Amino acid sequence: MVKAVVTGGAGRMGGRIISLISGTDGIEIVGAVERKGHPLVGKDVGEYLGLGATGVVLEDDLAKCAKNGDVVIDFTHRDAVMNTIRIAAENDLAIVAGTTGLTAEETAEIRDMVQKTRCVLAPNMSVGVNVMFKVLENVAAILGDQYDVEIVEAHHNLKKDAPSGTAVKMAQVIADSLGRDLEDVGIYGRKGMIGERPKKEIGIQTVRAGDIVGEHTVIFGGVGERLEFIHRAHSRDNFAKGAIRAAMWIVDQENGLYDMQDVLGLKNM
Ligand code: NAD
Repeated sequence: MVKAVVTGGAGRMGGRIISLISGTDGIEIVGAVERKGHPLVGKDVGEYLGLGATGVVLEDDLAKCAKNGDVVIDFTHRDAVMNTIRIAAENDLAIVAGTTGLTAEETAEIRDMVQKTRCVLAPNMSVGVNVMFKVLENVAAILGDQYDVEIVEAHHNLKKDAPSGTAVKMAQVIADSLGRDLEDVGIYGRKGMIGERPKKEIGIQTVRAGDIVGEHTVIFGGVGERLEFIHRAHSRDNFAKGAIRAAMWIVDQENGLYDMQDVLGLKNM
């Protein structure tokens, strides 16, 4: 049985991860952590999540429950995740870090810190999205330069950044597969007399409307036909389930830094 500690245990993702773990065989919750001063600290996690009493109390310091666990799952904030990784490494706890917004320097620091443990770091833990990255890489390689690539992403009206990190990653995967530099060929919206479409352009368009959880459409437009690949997230549960799958996988790996492509065995396919 894999013993999991969840940081950000009262957050949107942390709460869903704890709830879904409670219905998953082979993994159990042994600890949950929030920021100091959070109003739910000291409460039983099952009670505030509507699961019934679990005996696991929300703590305000990972060091208090790190020793109970095999793996920590972190969906917090970029200011908090580095501390989670430091404490986890000190306590030989494996790590699944889903928190986004890390700089390249922070990612490099994580790579150093996890020499003493093992960590899955992935800004998108959806199994479907990660499979789609692999499919896009292969499709782009097969179609080559004859098909125009356009990506359209749609999210709810509260999302602050654009385009989504997932859309940019899709563009990057396709650019790499086609031997293009995304810095040169990426175009983020069009207006006015723009002229004919440059052949190697990769368009990335953003829609913001209502409560759309997340939708990514990738079009390969050819002559007389087009291919469309669509991923639709219906809820945050697809990320939470991916994080749980990563937690059950990482506990048996060698020390080092991994991503969801490793978890899903997609790297060498
Ligand atoms: P949220 O604001 O609902 O939850 C974050 C929680 O972390 C909050 O409850 C907050 O109080 C808590 N927190 C902050 N500092 C802390 C600390 N020092 N120790 C413990 N807990 C602390 O946000 P969310 O929607 O759950 O997203 C959390 C993060 O996960 C964001 O960075 C988001 O972009 C990312 N995310 C990643 C994926 C993925 O697939 N990798 C999917 C969804 C969200």
